[in-house]
Amino acid sequence: MDRVAIIGAGVSGLTCGAVFAERGYRTAIFAKETGQQTTSGAAAAVWFPYDAAPPEKVIPWALETFHVLVDLAPVPGTGVSMIELRQFSRTGEIQIPDWAIPLGASSVATGLWPVQDRAQRGGYNFKGSCAITVPLMDTTIYLDYLANRFVAAGGSIVTNVRFEKLEEVDRKFDLVINCAGIGARDLVQDVNLEPHRGQVAIVPKIDNLSCAIVCDDPPLMYAIPRANDCVFGGTNEISDDLSVDPKSTTRILDECSRVLNIDKPNVLAERVGLRPFRKSGVRLERDRLRDGRTVIHNYGHGGAGFTLSWGCTESVVRLVRQAE
Ligand SMILES: Cc1cc2nc3c(=O)[nH]c(=O)nc-3n(C[C@H](O)[C@H](O)[C@H](O)COP(=O)(O)OP(=O)(O)OC[C@H]3O[C@@H](n4cnc5c(N)ncnc54)[C@H](O)[C@@H]3O)c2cc1C
Repeated sequence: MDRVAIIGAGVSGLTCGAVFAERGYRTAIFAKETGQQTTSGAAAAVWFPYDAAPPEKVIPWALETFHVLVDLAPVPGTGVSMIELRQFSRTGEIQIPDWAIPLGASSVATGLWPVQDRAQRGGYNFKGSCAITVPLMDTTIYLDYLANRFVAAGGSIVTNVRFEKLEEVDRKFDLVINCAGIGARDLVQDVNLEPHRGQVAIVPKIDNLSCAIVCDDPPLMYAIPRANDCVFGGTNEISDDLSVDPKSTTRILDECSRVLNIDKPNVLAERVGLRPFRKSGVRLERDRLRDGRTVIHNYGHGGAGFTLSWGCTESVVRLVRQAE
């Protein structure tokens, strides 16, 4: 199989594109939207296996991706950096998962932390916390970096094309890779896909905030400092609504400002995306189109598309090699 068509130009499609083009396949990406307009463009996008299943597959993919991203972090122009992620719980101790221990995750007495001091002054009393240093992808740079890598390796990107079904892909492509995210619901009639709607507010850089702060228990709250701004979140509800909800923005700003004990910042932008959560787990498998061509499905990464991207791509490569 020599000519490859990838459907989707979010993080999954672009990562697959870069790898296939660099390994000598004649590869084209077809997508309705690219980069910033996709769900991937709305992501925070910090490495963390969140809201994706099943764990026995997700964790190995996440760890494989972790190591690729660590190697990209020192490379100029990638948009990848390493950041300390501090996770807090309002309700109880945080159990550090086994997979996080080799990555250096540790519990830290919350009283020792600057954010705890700030939060306490804001009336907060966290009960548990842990810290881990992880890759952070600045989506405003990283998605372009992937697209440029793909094009530099000879790939082409065709945008503004929406397929009703995969068989519409030009017959000159003998392999199709389906990276359509939540779009796979219509494209391959997958009723297992559930839109986990997320909204974020982009605010100016926050003084002295150099680590990412996450509170997973409700209400979901995170503040992720990037090179030029800071991402405040968030929401996670089952909904198809891509419009910005002003009430959610207010709630996000209130909660983040309270935890960080700062005045409410201006909002530079608001973003909404539909995390492609798949109830039966990420779909990464080989199948046949009705016209006999091979298709590899690679979608349903939920809230962890960045976190799983390189590991899933290597699994796609293995499935292709087995079919050759
Ligand atoms: C608010 C928010 C915060 C998040 N934070 C993180 C995070 O910190 N870390 C993390 O790892 N993940 C995070 N995620 C999840 C992550 O964004 C997704 O898992 C990831 O973007 C999925 O990428 P994808 O490439 O599979 O799909 P998408 O980015 O949705 O791309 C799908 C592509 O397929 C195309 N397409 C779909 N249907 C068709 C069709 N019929 N014909 C042609 N093209 C089609 C689309 O146009 C698009 O190009 C977050 C998500 C949200 C919403």
